[in-house]
Amino acid sequence: MTAPRLETDLDAITHNTRWLVNQLAQRGIGVTGVAKATLGSPHVALAMIRGGVRGLGDSRLENLERIRLTAPRTPLTLVRSPMRSQVDSVVREADCSLNTEPTVLDALSSAAVRGDTSHAVVLMVELGDLREGVASQDVVEMASTVTTRPGLHLVGLGTNLACRSGVIPDQAKMDELSSLVERVEARVGYDLRVVSGGNSANLDWALSTTNTGRINDLRLGESILLGTEPLHRRPIRGLRYDAFTLVAEVIELKTKPAQPWGKRAQSAFGDQPTTSGTGSVRQAIIALGRQDVDPDGLQPPNGMRVLSASSDHLVIDVGDHDVGVGDDVTFRMNYSALLRAMTSPFVRNCEHGTTPHDISSTSSNPEFTKRAA
Ligand SMILES: *Cc1c(COP(=O)(O)O)cnc(C)c1O
Repeated sequence: MTAPRLETDLDAITHNTRWLVNQLAQRGIGVTGVAKATLGSPHVALAMIRGGVRGLGDSRLENLERIRLTAPRTPLTLVRSPMRSQVDSVVREADCSLNTEPTVLDALSSAAVRGDTSHAVVLMVELGDLREGVASQDVVEMASTVTTRPGLHLVGLGTNLACRSGVIPDQAKMDELSSLVERVEARVGYDLRVVSGGNSANLDWALSTTNTGRINDLRLGESILLGTEPLHRRPIRGLRYDAFTLVAEVIELKTKPAQPWGKRAQSAFGDQPTTSGTGSVRQAIIALGRQDVDPDGLQPPNGMRVLSASSDHLVIDVGDHDVGVGDDVTFRMNYSALLRAMTSPFVRNCEHGTTPHDISSTSSNPEFTKRAA
């Protein structure tokens, strides 16, 4: 088998989706599955659909296009504010987008009219994390102008916390969103269908609150894919953490001194590495580097330790492990490592699990590479 490769267990993704969908359904909240860390993998999208998501979201139109071919009936949302330069593709590829800018909304409206289609809009509200969002005092006015634009319909409000500044989506923030929903409804004269409270960072709140207010949707990526919540990166009990494994190959194994020798300056990536320890280290070089994965997000097997990483070489202390040149070493990954491995052209993507019967192009081939897809 080629290396490096990223093994995906699709059944783990279905399990995680179903568990979260069931827990949240008891609280009146549906799930929009976000597949962006998997390059919009159609198999991952189908695994989420099998798990019961009400729709799928992605930050990239290219990914939505791939998903659309596989799941033509699933509602698709573009979760990053559209670029004004791409509005024609947005209304073609996405049923809905999250928005904050009047000029983009104007352009989306014209594109929808041109394309003889209609496009759903969720307005994003700034609640303190300082990434995307309209200031809360401007939301009612802006919502009302969206309803006057041909080709668009305002379906809801949303917010996104914890991504830029780590601001926690707590009861106060969610109550603020709910009360804005009521003010917008009073102004526009109809009920908002979508109130999207946030991402995986909202799960602590959503699974413990006794009052979800008007929140009826969460956009979940990391929790479904990795089984973790992003506020403290703790595993969520009930979920599987083994959906993804990165496998890479040892190309050198030698016992070397712990300390380098010679006069020292910067290393390849500009840092002045501190090397600790004395004596010698059983050191393996793995054919894996920053072009393949974020090395800071790699978790090697117990008893092994990552020592350094450059573009193409990962140096690890293998301890007493019985590994040799040509052997595979497997790693768990955090979100950042997963994202880079999925988007690296050097990492082969191998997806396993219940064979999806509704993917026509790949149904006979449960493994495929992103280059071939
Ligand atoms: C990525 C993203 C999500 C999903 O976030 P997770 O932390 O992976 O659950 C939700 N909403 C928006 C706007 C995003 O960009």
